[in-house]
Parts: sequence; C-alpha cells; structure tokens
Amino acid sequence: MFMREHYPDVVVERPGITMWDLIVKKGMPPTRIVRYCCDQLKERGGQGRFVITGVRWAESARCKNGWGVLELNSHSSVRIKLMNDNDEARRLLESCVMKSMHTLNPIIDWLEEDVWEYLESRGISHCCLYDEGYSRIGCIGCPLAGAKQMRREFARYPKYERAYLRAFDRMLQARIDNGKPYLKWHCGQDVMDWWLRESSHSVPENQITFEDISAEGVDTL
Ligand code: SF4
Repeated sequence: MFMREHYPDVVVERPGITMWDLIVKKGMPPTRIVRYCCDQLKERGGQGRFVITGVRWAESARCKNGWGVLELNSHSSVRIKLMNDNDEARRLLESCVMKSMHTLNPIIDWLEEDVWEYLESRGISHCCLYDEGYSRIGCIGCPLAGAKQMRREFARYPKYERAYLRAFDRMLQARIDNGKPYLKWHCGQDVMDWWLRESSHSVPENQITFEDISAEGVDTL
C-alpha cells in the first residue's frame, strides 16, 4: 500500500507461483533453515536490468566482516546472495554475468540511525508500520522474523493466517496423495503450531524438528 501510494512507478513483478502453492509443492512450511520461498518469490527477477536494493550489513544476523566494494560473481567461488539478504558477503556493487544482472546496494554500510537521519533530512516519508514498533518490514509470517513477530503479524493480518492454514491443509492432503503422510500433523493448525515453535529461537527438547520431516524428503521444484 505504502509503495503503491508513494512510489507508483515501482514495478512489482509477479512470481510464477504463489506462496500457498509453493507450500503444497514443497510439502512443508518454509523455515529459518529451509528458505525455499526466497529463491522462488524474491530472488528472481531483475534479469538484464540494474537492480538497486536497500540491504545493509547491519541487518546481517552475523557480525560484519570485510569491506568489499565490487563483487564480480558469475564464476567466482563467492556466491551472490539473495537480493533481500543482508549477509556480510554482500557488496556495494555486484555483477552476475550469467544472469546479465547488476545489483547496487547503495546503503550497504549504513547503520539504522543513518537511514533515519537521511529520511528526516530529506523529508522522505516512511511506512507507518515503523511508527508502530516494526523494525523490519517483509513478508507477513516470514519465519526469519521469529515466532513472536509472526504471531503479531497474524493478529494484525488474520486473512494471511487463514491463508497459511488453508495452504497447510492442502499440503497435508498432497502429502497423503503422494504417499508420504506425516503422522504427527493431522490438520493445518498442527502445522501452524509446529511452524511457530520451530520459528522461535529456543526450540525445546523432544519437539518435532525439521529433521523429523526432512527425513521423509522435501520436494524440489
Ligand atoms: S522473506 Fe521470509 S517469507 Fe519472504 S520469501 Fe524470504 S524466507 Fe520466505
């Protein structure tokens, strides 16, 4: 909504598959460890174009090392990360010959206060969610945000929680149809409960883990 209102010339590319169908196809929800949705929904696009992102090292989960400026990817051993990834391996300017794509990360070394100072000094408006306590804005229900934030988002956007539950129900049916039912999940709500526990940062012992499910295999596209 904010983007459409303030930046109407931004082109939003529709992915070839929805999150809901992706969950059914993969047979499990995306997790912090298995982020299959980023690859399908966020990393694609920009081919043949110059992509500008807002990724920052300060948002990397790991401490930042190095201070690279240019990363020439295609055949190097260092892999270019996802476009939304704030990893320390990100560089100010990245180039992928294979995809004929260039990526500029102009605020890669900015701290949060630098961002706010810049916005305020230029009178640039920001999304109101930041005023409501959100520190990062991304996909609703993203497992990377952690269970607390997921619950908060589902309380605010209940339609999305229902959409996930429906996708989980369809996913369970697809697992049965494919001959690999997962006996510890009986309905979408079971999956949702597991997903939220899995996304919390401290996973209790004796809980169903990703390994339990992956032992039965995760479909690949
Ligand atoms: S940001 Fe989160 S929910 Fe969105 S595509 Fe990536 S892992 Fe999935």
